[in-house]
Amino acid sequence: MRPRGAEDVQAAVRVCIEHGTPLVTRGAGTGLSGGANAVDGCVLIAMDQLNRIKEIDPVERLAVVEPGVVNDDLRAAAAEQSLWYPPDPASSPWSTIGGNVATNAGGVCCVKYGVTRDYVLGMQVVTGTGEIVRLGRRTAKGVAGYDLAGLMVGSEGTLGVITEITVRLKAKRTAETTVAGYFDSIVQAGAAAAAVVAAGVVPSALELVDKHCLKAVDAWKNMGLSAEAEVVLLGRTDTPGDGEATTMLRCFEQAGATWAAMSTDQEEADALFSARRLAYPALERLGPVLTEDVCVPTHRIAEMLGRIEAAARKHDILIANVAHVGDGNLHPLLITPLDDDSARARAQAAFEDIIGDALRLGGTVTGEHGVGLLKRPGLVQELSPAVLDMHRAVKKALDPHGILNPGKVFA
Ligand SMILES: Cc1cc2nc3c(=O)[nH]c(=O)nc-3n(C[C@H](O)[C@H](O)[C@H](O)COP(=O)(O)OP(=O)(O)OC[C@H]3O[C@@H](n4cnc5c(N)ncnc54)[C@H](O)[C@@H]3O)c2cc1C
Repeated sequence: MRPRGAEDVQAAVRVCIEHGTPLVTRGAGTGLSGGANAVDGCVLIAMDQLNRIKEIDPVERLAVVEPGVVNDDLRAAAAEQSLWYPPDPASSPWSTIGGNVATNAGGVCCVKYGVTRDYVLGMQVVTGTGEIVRLGRRTAKGVAGYDLAGLMVGSEGTLGVITEITVRLKAKRTAETTVAGYFDSIVQAGAAAAAVVAAGVVPSALELVDKHCLKAVDAWKNMGLSAEAEVVLLGRTDTPGDGEATTMLRCFEQAGATWAAMSTDQEEADALFSARRLAYPALERLGPVLTEDVCVPTHRIAEMLGRIEAAARKHDILIANVAHVGDGNLHPLLITPLDDDSARARAQAAFEDIIGDALRLGGTVTGEHGVGLLKRPGLVQELSPAVLDMHRAVKKALDPHGILNPGKVFA
């Protein structure tokens, strides 16, 4: 169904409770963990009709939006008033604010500006008992009661259906300087990223893209991107002056960059960033892609990238890499030829090795994509039985009939 208001959602929830029917909420369906996949016999609620930006308040610096608003549309509307909505998942041209909130999406600039959670002030939610409630606030501060709006952020449609969201905005940002570096190996590029963080630089973006991604984007969009580098590291800073850019450049060179420069060519810099954004869809053209999303402490980035390379060799699998490397959030993309069951089995084994390695290095199984279906086994590896019981208790309290996105996140 395609609701036009919270009352439509409420009516759907009540019917689902009466009939014991599962209800799955869907934003744009760009999620990479299967969270919005339909389950047998479910009602699927698609949020595309709930797509109004209801308010942008330049004085309070906030926006009130319906959940189906596309991320880039909110950013464009905010920009018209010299304001900025920072969370910028690489899917921002397509993904919705509701989906971003339900997955606590990260993005390119979150290394400096934080993730979706940092911008959610309040929301309207239809609960698993069919009530329409308001959670959170519009004020800059507020500690009345438990942070139930915060609990909904990242809950992947399992605790309520979000029907309106109030987000914090920032003043329009200053221009960024880009620093690009070419490396012969992802391990060197990872070491350069860790060195940038250790040097106290807080870049406004620090992204890694390897040659498999660049070639796939070139083959698709013919953007004429460099095939000279095995790995490209893209740093950006919006701190005035060239101090941070100079430090980044030095870190890249000391870590062994074969070429590094501050970009004077904005068009070239933008092309490299758009290649990073297009990496997933470009690689999907090569065959089914198993998408990883591990996140490790920054001083472990190079070691983790080395282990990913080792997993590719051990299991004889093509693994392409993009990464929000400044936060240690790595996206090895395991590509298998169509209809090759043996390759799929090897990819699955590599996937499991990578998860195990990330946990051993003090990381997490999902930095930003969410658990959905894909990371359910990983969640059990990461959380203790007592913490999983806490999750089940919260779920039972807020969704006593068990109708909201059942089988997702945990069984
Ligand atoms: C090319 C590409 C690049 C990407 N880059 C990033 C990135 O940089 N950072 C990042 O974090 N993710 C990224 N993603 C993953 C994805 O875009 C995000 O997870 C995004 O937040 C999902 O939004 P969506 O609107 O597509 O939600 P969907 O995929 O439709 O749903 C995601 C989850 O949210 C739930 N949900 C959706 N709307 C609601 C609602 N109104 N109420 C309650 N639950 C709801 C669904 O049930 C599901 O569990 C990328 C994906 C692609 C395809």
